Amino acid sequence: MSVAGSVSRRTLFGRIVTMVAGAAAYGAVGRAAAQKKVSKLEAKYQDHPNGQQRCEICLNFLAPDRCRIVEGRISKTGWCQFFAAKENAH
Ligand code: SF4
Repeated sequence: MSVAGSVSRRTLFGRIVTMVAGAAAYGAVGRAAAQKKVSKLEAKYQDHPNGQQRCEICLNFLAPDRCRIVEGRISKTGWCQFFAAKENAH
């Protein structure tokens, strides 16, 4: 076996380990993100707007009735303390 072949295998093994570790980390982050949703009570969610602020113009809104942060179904005209306006939102 040549030195170059040995290094090449080591490099390949290193890449595989990195890919597996990355995939595992991504999965863990994805699961953590899914579990990190907060309750409507914690978010101080209400099913009506707060002035001009409402879910349908929030960055966290997932049409038609979900939110990246708050668990459960939400109204597009709702609001919570995590409101973050989309760019050019009105
Ligand atoms: S206002 Fe709150 S509940 Fe509505 S989409 Fe934004 S973060 Fe979610």
